[in-house]
Amino acid sequence: MIQFDVLTLFPLIFDGFLSESILKNAIESGKLSVQLHNMRNWATDKHSTMDDRPFGGGPGMVLKVDCVVPCVESVRGGCGVAGRLIMLSPQGRKFDQRLAESFAVEERLILLCGRYEGFDERVVELLEPEEVSIGDYVLNGGEVAAMVLIEAVMRLLPGALGDCDSNRLDSFSSGNRLLDCAQYTRPREYRGLNVPETLLNGNHAEIEKWRNENSLQRTKLRRPDLLN
Ligand code: SAM
Repeated sequence: MIQFDVLTLFPLIFDGFLSESILKNAIESGKLSVQLHNMRNWATDKHSTMDDRPFGGGPGMVLKVDCVVPCVESVRGGCGVAGRLIMLSPQGRKFDQRLAESFAVEERLILLCGRYEGFDERVVELLEPEEVSIGDYVLNGGEVAAMVLIEAVMRLLPGALGDCDSNRLDSFSSGNRLLDCAQYTRPREYRGLNVPETLLNGNHAEIEKWRNENSLQRTKLRRPDLLN
């Protein structure tokens, strides 16, 4: 069981994400829980202001240190396990399967979602979060990045997927250095394209060999860096 605490200004963004499909089932069967915390509840003025103009001028707004730090401290203190604090940021360490695997063995992950120009730098100095990026592009906020992280970690939780082999054979996983192989389902023929004969003959050793070779070919072609 892993607990995610998501600190966000826009908790409603998560509604559909958490209430559909595999993630919904995983939550209902107690594999994980996701607690949403509206950071605005820690605003200090009557207008619930969470951001202010940057010192030195320039565009955009900055999330206020005197609201964010007490919010994180309060959420952290609300449970016996302090948890691993992760700040979603385009400037952080690039998220990958290896990092997802290291998150999946934790009891608690606290995800801090930024907005606007991001956080006052003193949030980082005081709380020393792990900064994590989902790629070299800039989103409006950390919520989509937090969803990416939650979903990738959820797939790795024991019993969360119907077929326990699914994540072991996924591309990038520790159990599989290679990209996953090509997959086919019915019909056997579509617009002149046939499913490879080997996959139809029921010989498991041959099928396994075909899949390994297909994985290797794809990896060489698409992601040769993974073979290094
Ligand atoms: N001015 C910041 C910069 O250029 O580094 C970008 C701020 S961005 C508009 C607002 C928030 O979105 C960030 O604080 C972060 O939480 C989130 N965000 C944007 N891109 C992200 C990415 N690639 N990975 C993770 N979080 C991201």
